[in-house]
Amino acid sequence: MTFDEARQCVLHEVPPKRGDCETVPVLSATGRVLAEDIAADRDYPPFHRSARDGFAVRAADVPGELQVIGEVRAGQIFTGQMSANGAVEIMTGAPLPPGADAVVMVEHVDRRENRVAIPRSYTSGENFTPKGAESKQGEIVLHAGHRIGFTETAVLAMVGRERVQVFRQPRVAIVPTGDEIVEAGETPLPHQIRNSNAWSLSVQVRRAGGAPEILPIARDSYESTFASVKTGLESDLLLLSGGVSAGKYDIVEQVLADFGARFFFTRVLIQPGQPLVFGAIGEKFFFGLPGNPASTMVTFELFARAVLERLSGCEDAMMPLLRARLTRDFRHKPGLTRFLPARLSEDGSTVEPIGWQGSGDIPSLVRANAFLVADADRESWSEGDDIRVLLK
Ligand code: AMP
Ligand code: MG
Repeated sequence: MTFDEARQCVLHEVPPKRGDCETVPVLSATGRVLAEDIAADRDYPPFHRSARDGFAVRAADVPGELQVIGEVRAGQIFTGQMSANGAVEIMTGAPLPPGADAVVMVEHVDRRENRVAIPRSYTSGENFTPKGAESKQGEIVLHAGHRIGFTETAVLAMVGRERVQVFRQPRVAIVPTGDEIVEAGETPLPHQIRNSNAWSLSVQVRRAGGAPEILPIARDSYESTFASVKTGLESDLLLLSGGVSAGKYDIVEQVLADFGARFFFTRVLIQPGQPLVFGAIGEKFFFGLPGNPASTMVTFELFARAVLERLSGCEDAMMPLLRARLTRDFRHKPGLTRFLPARLSEDGSTVEPIGWQGSGDIPSLVRANAFLVADADRESWSEGDDIRVLLK
């Protein structure tokens, strides 16, 4: 499968799920997915709200010289009567006096004691936001399936919600595999490697809205891997790292098959991450992610993240690829879509490929803040050409 086909396959197989809910305080709901529709409790704005400091007037009276008949500031209402050729001094955020239909900016008037000269004409509706223009009472302002960020939090506060219903976070089992792998807290023998994948995956899972559960390292034996998969299937999503290449001891696929797995794909034309397994056992989805650290990280971002977002109830699984200008000539061997460590400039306009030793090179990944996406059907790019970029 090509990269695009595999991505489509994932989105096709995993529709957004409406699972169990729980109610949590809004300020603890950051990153969670809303499980209820939120309606406006009243019109927004709740009154004709001045957008400027200046003078509330009747548009029909200007241009002209008007009499200042009072003042209204934010948090107050004007109780007097708006008369012909009258102006009420008004502050940003204050309610328009009844009868007024425009606000003249303070910068545009010439004030002499209780009179203001307004040189230009105004149309009805200028410089204030009409009552209900942002949303009407009862209108849905936030839909279930939306992830809660700072703007959503503001809406929840706006309508007076202190607690909110969210979907339960999917539990994600992380199963590292490999005879050579030891825990991060251990001192490895010269031929052993510390388990970094379980930790990086754990961070990626959290960021995508899941609750990670790191299982003990499975060894490259049928029995050990079988036992881990069995435990892992108790979670909502199973992520295995390693053991999916063509090596003699790569037995993850065989074990999954013996659990009755349906495989949606077992190889994707990408690098890093070509041997990549995605499937389901019963209702449970799983990924066999290739073990090289960059492969594990990249394939999670490209595919597993979308599955997790869908399982969290999230309506849209976003993966925006930006475009930036290359700082130097770049070429690769066509056939695979490559995701290579790169440094995006501060303003996002240019991108610089970072030299690396291949998908086992973890230190180079921290020097990168993005991955450059080299299309499978193109061989070379010149300095200044646009290329796609995936943010880290
Ligand atoms: P594999 O996909 O099992 O063939 O592993 C590919 C490479 O990734 C090997 O060099 C492994 O040592 C390395 N690797 C596998 N699992 C992990 C892990 N959990 N943490 C760090 N490196 C790993
Ligand atoms: Mg291995």
